[in-house]
Order: sequence, then C-alpha cells, then structure tokens
Amino acid sequence: MTQASAPHHLPILEVFQFPCLDDNYGYLIRDREAGICASVDTPSAAAVEAALAETGWKLDFIFNTHHHEDHTGGNLELKARTGCRIVGPRADAARIPGIDQQVGEGDVVTLGRHRARVLDTPGHTRGHIVYVFDEDQAVFVGDTLFSMGCGRLFEGTPEQMWISLQKLRRLPDPMRVFCAHEYTQKNAHFAIGLEPDNADLRERVAEVDQLRELDMPTVPSTIGRERLTNPFLRPDSPELQATLGLRGASLIEVFAETRRRRNEF
Ligand SMILES: [Zn+2]
Repeated sequence: MTQASAPHHLPILEVFQFPCLDDNYGYLIRDREAGICASVDTPSAAAVEAALAETGWKLDFIFNTHHHEDHTGGNLELKARTGCRIVGPRADAARIPGIDQQVGEGDVVTLGRHRARVLDTPGHTRGHIVYVFDEDQAVFVGDTLFSMGCGRLFEGTPEQMWISLQKLRRLPDPMRVFCAHEYTQKNAHFAIGLEPDNADLRERVAEVDQLRELDMPTVPSTIGRERLTNPFLRPDSPELQATLGLRGASLIEVFAETRRRRNEF
C-alpha cells in the first residue's frame, strides 16, 4: 500500500506501509527524486527486505524511534547487507544496535529534500523519539501514540508521557499519524466505554470495525481525528472525567487513570 501527499513545492515523500510480525506496521519512506530511502524502525530484517524488494527501493537510512526488539530487531542485519546509516535516540543510544547518529529534541533529520524534526517523547521507554515531517504532514510516532491509544508506560511516569503526548496533540489537524501497531479496534472499544456520547468517536468506532472486518489497516490516522477521539489526548473531556469519577481533577490524574484502566481492559 502506498500513500503519498505533499505541498506542490516539495517532491512527494513516498510512504510504503506494510504489516509484519503479529500486529506491527513497518514503513519505508523515500524522497522519490533523490531516490533516498529510510526504514522507520526495523521490526524484522526479513519484512523490511521484502518491502525493499517489492518497491525496488534501496535502503540508505534506518530511523529508529525506540529500543524495543520489534523496532530495532532488524538493525544489524540490514546495516550489514545495505551499509545503511542508523539514526536513533541519543537518550537511549546504548540500546540502539548499530547506531551511527544520535538525535534528540530540536534536531532535524533529512531524507533528501525532506526534513523531519525530532521530538523527545519519553514514557513508553526512557529514550523514545518521534519524527515530524512538517511539510509532508506526516509524523512517525513509534509506540508513543496509537490510534485512540498510547504506549504502555514501561519506563516512564504518567507525567512524562502526558508531556510527550501534548507535543503531539499540538501538531496540526491534517498531520498523518503513522503508528507502529494495529491496536485500533481494541483501543476503540475501550474509548467508547469512556465517552459513549462522543459522536466523533462513535463514528470512528463503526468505521474501524468495518475496516477490520475487511482486514484493512486503520493506520494512518490524523492528529485532528485523534484529538477528537483518543481518550489519552482528551483528559480535559468532561464526559471522560465524569466516567472516571474524576471531574475537575488534574489532567495528569485523568490521564494516569485512563492508562491504568486500559492496562486492565
Ligand atoms: Zn515499544
């Protein structure tokens, strides 16, 4: 499946999205004119190589979001085969196999003429980063944000994760959100229990059920859509607060309770 869109002045950032492992998505992205390609994370070397074979693209970079095995497991094998350069989080460099370039908040990564801002988004892991292609309206969020969900807090506090998610919540509505797992349907059924009167959410749940029935991806989403339907971006929702019995509580408290309930869902 290929998705592409960009303002006229820029060459198109091509995105090739492919399912792999149990429920991961892998992404190859490419500056078409320059012929420069990156794999966002490496869930498995074999799956990335199959995607390269299918597209005919040649791998120049790996852009890692965080250290988990289903995001870096193919790093060394792909680097050995292609000589690609590995970019990853400075805060977690010791846990990124084969890392060549360490980046963090405020750094800019280039892929040909395309530019991605790096944001630090700790919470799921200590050193998680995301790649924001502002001009291409695309953000690669790893396991920080999912459609109607967010990553589990393996190495961070609710406070840290809420700060990270606010950085994403502030991005423009049309920005496409490329997350690393197809968790949407379960997230949707959790979310609707918290905000049963949210009309945008009801519509999205129906759409997601239909897409999954047809075995079609629900990813990418958009920031605008997530802001309307994702309970982890909506701790200020009166309905959500009321469901949780936390009307008027701090947003961090509401977020933390939402995350706790999702862990048990
Ligand atoms: Zn992870």
